[in-house]
Amino acid sequence: DHKATIIDGKAIAQTIRSEIAAEVRRLSQTHGKVPGLAVVIVGKRKDSQSYVTMKRKACAEVGIKSFDLDLPEEVSESELICKVHELNANPDVHGILVQLPLPKHINEEKILTEISLDKDVDGFHPLNIGKLAMKGRDPLFVPCTPKGCIELLSRSGISIKGKNAVVVGRSNIVGLPVSLLLLKEDATVTVVHSRTKEPESIIRQADIIIAAAGQAMMIKGSWIKPGAAVIDVGTNAVDDSSKKSGYRLVGDVDFHEACKVAGWITPVPGGVGPMTVAMLLKNTLDGAKRVIH
Ligand code: NAP
Repeated sequence: DHKATIIDGKAIAQTIRSEIAAEVRRLSQTHGKVPGLAVVIVGKRKDSQSYVTMKRKACAEVGIKSFDLDLPEEVSESELICKVHELNANPDVHGILVQLPLPKHINEEKILTEISLDKDVDGFHPLNIGKLAMKGRDPLFVPCTPKGCIELLSRSGISIKGKNAVVVGRSNIVGLPVSLLLLKEDATVTVVHSRTKEPESIIRQADIIIAAAGQAMMIKGSWIKPGAAVIDVGTNAVDDSSKKSGYRLVGDVDFHEACKVAGWITPVPGGVGPMTVAMLLKNTLDGAKRVIH
């Protein structure tokens, strides 16, 4: 009976976090300075609060100083822009993260564009995304979840060059940037989205599948080419009365079926999720290293 190799994102992320902690210690010993990350949250969305808490805790663990800004739901767009400008000007802040989504009265794109390019640790500034898309250009920062997907492949010894990669989803934060990264890594990239005809026949050609559609267990075992590497970004809550919370998290891939066919697969939770946070710390460290010498 075939069994896919499970890619342990939690363990890989932990290794990366220890590497980062060691570098932060070295910076602090040699230059008396530590990297700083501003984590800005607007409003009281439960999911956003838990992501932000996780990111702030992760900073503390590796010795990165976090600057915490908790703004009320009613904050105006101009007040938020003002805060971003203050952080842009603060030399102890090397990275600025504004947790999305923002309340409806605030134009998200406008805010993201105000973040200084060299502190854009989420990599969502249009100029950083633009450079990611262009040949021969290197963005200052690459978005964390997409970067985490590539890191999971490389640390598992899976080569990307010349492979058929299929990305399911084309959002600004995951699908699009991960497609651009795979292209930079010399994969042949196909993007599947909600209007794609016969997605299963396209996905079946993939040596590498990146699933980021936000559709619980949409990708069946029979859609997967034997031996393929499957990176499941999807994080979907489904009802589960056996859990105290009343729900459990599942990916975009039917994990149980996929294990019988795929060569490698990431679990949900414990796959891509922990890598996103690790890459945020890495981006902050890299940003700090550019200015602390
Ligand atoms: P999103 O903005 O909702 O985008 C979903 C994308 O999937 C869209 O491009 C959509 O196509 C496509 N899609 C939807 N249904 C589809 C279907 N049946 N077949 C093919 N494509 C389909 O979501 P997102 O923000 O990119 O997030 C995607 C998933 O990743 C979510 O489950 C989210 O929770 C998870 N996520 C996880 C992490 C992490 O750190 N682990 C980070 C971010 C997101 P159209 O463009 O045509 O609408």
